[in-house]
Amino acid sequence: MIDYNITHLIGVGQKKAQYFNKLGIDSIDALLHFYPKDYIDLTKPVSILNAPDDTPCAVKARVITDVKEHRVKKNMILYKFTAQSENVMLKITIFNNKYAAAKIKKGVNYIFYGKITGNFLTKEMNSPEIYSESTSYIRPVYKATEGLASYQIEKIVKSALIYSDKLDEIFSEDFRQRYDLTDIKSAIMNIHFPSSFLMLEKARKRLAFEEMFILQAGIIYLGNKKGIKSDFVFRENKLYDQFKGLLPYSLTCAQDKAIKECISDLTSGNQMNRLLQGDVGSGKTVVAAALCYICSKNKLQSAIMAPTEVLATQHYNSFKELFSTEGLNIELLTGSMTAKKKKEIINKTQNGDVDILIGTHTLIQDNVSFKNLALIITDEQHRFGVQQRNKLTDKSISPHNLVMSATPIPRTLALMIYGDLDISVLDELPPGRKTVDTFVVDQSYTKRINSFIKKHLDKGLQAYIVCPLVENNESDLISVEGFAEQLKLNDFKDYKVGILHGKMKASEKDMIMSEFFRGNIQLLVSTTVIEVGVNVTNATIMVIENAERFGLSQLHQLRGRVGRGKEKSYCILVSNAQGGNTKSRLDIMKKTNDGFKIADFDLKLRGPGDFFGNKQHGLPELKIADIFSDMQIIEKSKNAASELLKEDPQLKSSNNLLIKQQVRNLFKNNVESLN
Ligand code: ADP
Ligand code: MG
Repeated sequence: MIDYNITHLIGVGQKKAQYFNKLGIDSIDALLHFYPKDYIDLTKPVSILNAPDDTPCAVKARVITDVKEHRVKKNMILYKFTAQSENVMLKITIFNNKYAAAKIKKGVNYIFYGKITGNFLTKEMNSPEIYSESTSYIRPVYKATEGLASYQIEKIVKSALIYSDKLDEIFSEDFRQRYDLTDIKSAIMNIHFPSSFLMLEKARKRLAFEEMFILQAGIIYLGNKKGIKSDFVFRENKLYDQFKGLLPYSLTCAQDKAIKECISDLTSGNQMNRLLQGDVGSGKTVVAAALCYICSKNKLQSAIMAPTEVLATQHYNSFKELFSTEGLNIELLTGSMTAKKKKEIINKTQNGDVDILIGTHTLIQDNVSFKNLALIITDEQHRFGVQQRNKLTDKSISPHNLVMSATPIPRTLALMIYGDLDISVLDELPPGRKTVDTFVVDQSYTKRINSFIKKHLDKGLQAYIVCPLVENNESDLISVEGFAEQLKLNDFKDYKVGILHGKMKASEKDMIMSEFFRGNIQLLVSTTVIEVGVNVTNATIMVIENAERFGLSQLHQLRGRVGRGKEKSYCILVSNAQGGNTKSRLDIMKKTNDGFKIADFDLKLRGPGDFFGNKQHGLPELKIADIFSDMQIIEKSKNAASELLKEDPQLKSSNNLLIKQQVRNLFKNNVESLN
C-alpha cells in the first residue's frame, strides 16, 4: 500500500491536499484508486457531417475564419469562429476563455470535443475542448470538486503513476489466471489512461472483481453466523399441526415451506439466522406466529420487534386473538405506555411470566431483560439499523433470529447484502387477492376522486388519503392537517374523517388507528405512518397526494394497504409534477403489482450507489462494480471469496494478509472493532 501522503506529489501543496481530502483522497494509494467517472474518446474523430446530434463527440475540422471577439456583458466575452470539414460548417463559440481563443489559428486542423446542436443548415458547438490534430488518446474525466478540475486531477494522477509498481497485488498469479484477471498495475494504469477500450474493459473487470471480492470476503469474515451452535434446540412434537388448527384459513405453499425451513433451523441445534422476504400482504405475520407458538410450547420466550406502535399493537391484537384458547402470556411493550405499566411488563418478562413480548424499539432498552429468550423476530427489518438488531440479540446467548422484510430485493443482491443469513421467500399471495387498479392523475381530478371515494364510503367501505406533510408550510406540498380540514368542511362534511401523523402522541395514533380498524372512521387522512404493515381489509381506496415525493417501493408499500379484502381496490396517485422521469416512474406503478419488479426498477433509478451508501445496510459504498451489469462478476467473486474463507476463515495465512488488510480498510467505517 502506497500510504505516502498526497503532498508527496509535485503540484500538490497544502491547499490542493485539502481539496483532495474533500474527495476522500489523502494518500497516493487512494488517489490511484480514485477512478474516472467517464472517458473522452479522442482516438476516432469524425467529420462534422458524421457527428451525432446532441451527444458529445470528437470532431476533426479546419478553422476557416479568424476568431471574433464579442463583449455581451461586462463580464462576458464570446469568441466566435467557424470550422469546416467536408464542406460542412460548424459555428464554434468559446465563453470567456481568452487563453483558449488565442491559440486558435486560421487554416489549421483541430479536434473539437463537444456537443453539436443546431439544425440541418447551421451546426453549432459551444465551449468545446480543443486539441491539436494529432491528439489520439482516451482521456479520463474525473469527478471535479471545488478547487480541483478534472484536468488537474488527471495531471496529478499521471504523475502518481510512477508509484504503480508499489501497488498491492492481492491476487496470486494462479488466482488471476483462474478468474481471467489482469494484474493490478496494468489495471490501474488502464483505468486512468486506457491504451484501448479493450484494455479499459479488462481493467474495469479486474477492479470490480476485486471490489466485490473484498466486500463479500468482508461480509463472510465479519458476520459468519452460519453453523453457530445454539442452546435452544426446539422440539416440534406436532406443534406445527396444532398451530395450523388454530388458523381460520389454510397456509399458502410458500408460507408452509418457509415455516418448515425455520422449524428445521430451530430443531437443528444450530442458531437460526434467517431472512424472510415477502411482498406486502404475502402473510409474513403468520409465519412469525407459528414460530412464536412453537417457542412458547417449548417453554421458551420469544420477542417481536416492529418499527411503529401501530404495527406492534396490530401484531399484539392478532396474536391475542389467534392464541386466545392457548393460555399463552402475550404482552405489548411500547414507548407510550405509562411508566408503571412498562415496569410491570418488564418485571414479568424478566421473571419468565411472559411468553411472547411484542413491542417497538422499547424492547432494546437496557432495562428490558428476559429469562430465557430463545427467538427474536424483527418485522420490517429495513427500518432498523444493524446495531439495533444486535442489541436485541445481545439480550440472550445464541437466540434464534428471523428478520422479516417487505422490501423485496433481487435474490443475488440479497445473498450479497445478507451474506450471513439464510433466506426464505414468500413468493405467493394468499388466494383471493385482487390486483389493485392504479391510476396516475393530476390535481385537477380532486373533485372526481372525492366523489369516487364517497361512493365507496356509502357502500360501507373505507379509504386512505396520504399526504407528504403534517402541516402546511411555505411549500406547495399538501399537508394532512390542511387537506383534512378542507375535506371536512366541504366534500366530506357528512362523513367521519380522521387524521393520523407522526407528530401525534403514540396513544392518539393508536386510538385513531383502532377507530379506523373498527370502521368508526371512514376516511383516514395520513402521512406515511400507515405505511408499514397496517391491515384493514375493509379499506379499498388509497389516494396518494404529491405522489412524486415518494420512492417507488414506498408507493408500493402504501398501495399494499388496500386490496386486502374481497372488494375491488384502487390506488390513485396524484401528481402535478412534470419534470424528469416522474411520469415514467409513476407509470411503473400502473403496470405492475409485483414488488420485486418495482424494487428492481427503483434500485435502477436510484442507482446502486445510493443503495449501498444507505447506512442501514451497514455496507460501504461501491466505487466501480455495478450490481446490475456486473452480476456475473459478483457471482464469481462471491464464490471465490467463500472458497477462500472456507480455507482460511480468519484470514491468518500470510498469503492472505493483504486481503485482510483491505477488508479492514473497506469496513473501517462500518465496524468498530476488528480483530
Ligand atoms: P405482510 O406479509 O404484509 O406482513 P400480513 O401478515 O399482514 O402480510 O398478512 C396480510 C393479510 O393476509 C392478513 O389479513 C392475514 O390474516 C392474511 N393472510 C395471511 N396468510 C393467509 C392465508 N394463507 N390465507 C388467507 N389469508 C391470509
Ligand atoms: Mg407485515
